[in-house]
Amino acid sequence: MHYSKVKPILLLLKTAIISFLLVSAAPGFAEKQNNKVAIAIHGGAGTILKSNMTPELEAAYHKKMKQALSAGYKLLKQGESSIKAIQATIMIMEDSELFNAGKGAVFTHHKTNELDASIMEGRHLNAGAIAGVTKVKNPITLAHAVMVKSNHVMLSGEKAETFAKKQSIEMVSPDYFYTERRWQQLLNVLKDDSDSTQLSEDEQQSVSQASPFMSVQRWPDDKKFGTVGAVALDVNGDLAAGTSTGGMTNKKFGRIGDSPIIGAGTYADNQSCAISATGHGEFFIRAAVAHDICARVLYKKIPLQQAADEVIMEKLVNMKAEGGIVGMSPKGEPVFSFNSAGMYRGYIDAEGNIHTAIYNQ
Ligand code: ASP
Repeated sequence: MHYSKVKPILLLLKTAIISFLLVSAAPGFAEKQNNKVAIAIHGGAGTILKSNMTPELEAAYHKKMKQALSAGYKLLKQGESSIKAIQATIMIMEDSELFNAGKGAVFTHHKTNELDASIMEGRHLNAGAIAGVTKVKNPITLAHAVMVKSNHVMLSGEKAETFAKKQSIEMVSPDYFYTERRWQQLLNVLKDDSDSTQLSEDEQQSVSQASPFMSVQRWPDDKKFGTVGAVALDVNGDLAAGTSTGGMTNKKFGRIGDSPIIGAGTYADNQSCAISATGHGEFFIRAAVAHDICARVLYKKIPLQQAADEVIMEKLVNMKAEGGIVGMSPKGEPVFSFNSAGMYRGYIDAEGNIHTAIYNQ
C-alpha cells in the first residue's frame, strides 16, 4: 500500500489510542467500572399463603420474577441507566398474566381494564405517570414517554392515549387485557356488591360454575394486590423506581390508586432512596408512603430498612392498611417491607445471584 494511504490510517489509530488513554485516565472512569449496580422487584403483596399455593404456580412466579430481574440486571451491567433497566424489567411482568399489570390487569366495576403506571429517576427528580389508559400494551413505556417527551408529569385517559400514539407507543385493543382469571374475580365481587350493575344471566351462570375452582384451587392468592414494581441503581450511581398496575378489582368511576402518584406509589431521590409500593392504594396515597420513607431516611438519617418498617409496619398498620414496598438505598442495598402474609419479590445480589421469595418467613 502506498505510504500516502497508510498515513491517514496510522493517524486515525493514534488518535483512537490517545482518546482511549485519556478517557480511561479521566477521573471517574475506573470508579464507574467498579461501581455497584443493583435491582429489586415486587409483584404485589397480600394474602398469599403457601398452604393454598400449588407447586406449579409457585414455580411459575419464581421463574417470571427471575426473568424480569435478569433483563434489568443485564442492561445495568452493560452500563445502561437505571430508568432503562426498570422499564425492561417491568415490561416483562406487564406481559405476564401472573401479575395485575398490563396483560393480567384486574377488571373495573364497569368491566374494563384501566391501567396506571409511573416512573421516576433520582438524579434530577424527573418523573412521568399515566392513569386510566385502556389501550397501551406496556403502560410503563408511556409513563417514561411522559417523563422524557412531554412538559407534564401525569397524563390520563383517552388524551394520554393520543399522546401515546404520537410517541409510537405500542397500542392494543382493550380486549388484549381480558383474562379469564380476572374476569371471574370481578364477577365474584360483583355478585356481593350492593351497587352492582345487574349481572346478565350468562355472567351469573359463569360465576356459579367457576368460582370454587378459580379462587381456591387454581389461583389461591387472589386476595392480593398484584401491582408490579422495580427499583434500581446504575453504574453512575443513579437510582430509579417504577410501578405499573391494573389497580383494584371492581374499582369505580375512574378511580386512580397510588401506583401512578409520585410520592405515594413511586419515588426516587439519589439523596435517600428509590421506592415502589403495592397495597391498598387509598391508604398509600393518604400516607404518601414512597415519599415518606425517603424523607425519613433524609431527615432522620436512619437506615432505609428502618424507615420502610416505620411506615409499613407502624404507620400503615395503625391505619389498618395492607401492603408493602421494595426499596433501594443509594449504595445499592435492596430493602423489602410488607405487613401482609406475602409479597412476590426478588433482587440480584453483588455477586449476581438471583433471589426470589413469596411468603413472609
Ligand atoms: N396499589 C394498587 C392500587 O391501589 C393496587 C396494588 O398494589 O395491587 O391501585
